[in-house]
Amino acid sequence: MDSVLVSVDIAIVGPGPVGAAAALALTLDGFNVALIGPANPRHDGRTVAVMDRSWQLLEQLGVASALESEAAALNVMRIVDDTGSLFRRPPTDFRATEIGLDQFGFNVETATLAKALLAATEADSRIIRVPQAVDGIEASDGARLIRLVDGSRLAARLVVGADGRQSIVRSKAGIDARDWSYPQTALTTVVRHSRAHRNVSTEFHTRHGPCTTVPLPGRRSSIVWMMAPDSAERLLAQDDAALALAIESRTHSILGQMSLDGPRGLTPMGGLSVDRFCAERVALIGEAAHVFPPIGAQGLNLGMRDVMALRECINPADPGAETGLGAYNRNRSSDVRTRTGAVDALNRSLLSDMLPVDFARGLGLLALERIGPLRRFVMRQGLNPSKAADRARDVRPSLKA
Ligand SMILES: Cc1cc2nc3c(=O)[nH]c(=O)nc-3n(C[C@H](O)[C@H](O)[C@H](O)COP(=O)(O)OP(=O)(O)OC[C@H]3O[C@@H](n4cnc5c(N)ncnc54)[C@H](O)[C@@H]3O)c2cc1C
Repeated sequence: MDSVLVSVDIAIVGPGPVGAAAALALTLDGFNVALIGPANPRHDGRTVAVMDRSWQLLEQLGVASALESEAAALNVMRIVDDTGSLFRRPPTDFRATEIGLDQFGFNVETATLAKALLAATEADSRIIRVPQAVDGIEASDGARLIRLVDGSRLAARLVVGADGRQSIVRSKAGIDARDWSYPQTALTTVVRHSRAHRNVSTEFHTRHGPCTTVPLPGRRSSIVWMMAPDSAERLLAQDDAALALAIESRTHSILGQMSLDGPRGLTPMGGLSVDRFCAERVALIGEAAHVFPPIGAQGLNLGMRDVMALRECINPADPGAETGLGAYNRNRSSDVRTRTGAVDALNRSLLSDMLPVDFARGLGLLALERIGPLRRFVMRQGLNPSKAADRARDVRPSLKA
């Protein structure tokens, strides 16, 4: 049997943005950390809206300053019902100032964020960086043994699975996952436009899913356009001018004339949820634990909240101890399940052309538009569920306002 290379407190499998953030945060907390796996940031025009608390975490990890010149503030999130439904509502705006913030967060290219986080882990001499992929994990006395593809092994008191949707840590730890797909593909790219975006992100809700413009620095925005897979393939094959024109027309020229200004890519849409967030000396974070469509900028932000919860819950004397992991499981269950349900319901309501479903969606938007306290509650929920829960009482006395 091969000998054990090294023994650490915490081994994080998966150097994506969530795994790299976890490595920096847990090192800051005094743990001895290894970050394992090959890095492969995708250059496909994808961006992430990094919301308020996640941005604060990046500040604490010393990464936010490197991103500032490449990120644009998100001051207003606008929803436009573009379904043609009988119960269509006028556009609904959510303003950060309504909940006392200058901005909801910052939008940055996903590959830029992933590179900045990885560079910070590589600059931190306390983090052991192992670039090989993991092949398996085994139980051991008071630890887990991680097997790498070259056959060598590491021991860790806690293994954190941050290895994405196809997580090997999840399957080897025996954690069941439910995986599903939607009849949609997201086309992503970056455009330059003739009108200023004024830091407004606009989500056009269409019968095939949302098409969203998200501000980037200057007169640039990222596009996430969900549509039927065959339509997405056809559009992807178009030349730059034809694709820019199609995006301009889909977004009703609100940003004026457009030209392509970045790579493009397709991501098939699906979701994943797990039956639990931990197993013996194993915890899951990021897309290893939850995947959903890019609606309401939830995915990475939820991953960053996994990191914050892990820091709060694990036992400093033994990070893999059952009590700490039990607390982590309880913390993540309600947050993740509520969001998975809400995003899934909204996405499916767009795909349905049944009148009662249209009516319910129209009513929901009407309530958000008219009832200020409810709108503020939903905005806080999107950013910071614990504070939102504290302030839920705001909603009750003034529903008639
Ligand atoms: C079109 C689109 C738009 C989005 N917009 C937003 C948004 O605005 N806001 C938001 O919050 N979220 C958004 N998301 C979601 C967000 O991009 C993801 O949640 C996030 O990037 C996932 O990061 P991760 O680190 O969990 O996983 P990944 O980025 O998938 O990283 C997993 C890592 O694990 C490694 N790995 C895999 N297998 C192994 C192995 N066996 N051994 C070792 N390493 C391994 C991989 O190489 C990779 O480095 C969007 C998603 C899409 C598709």
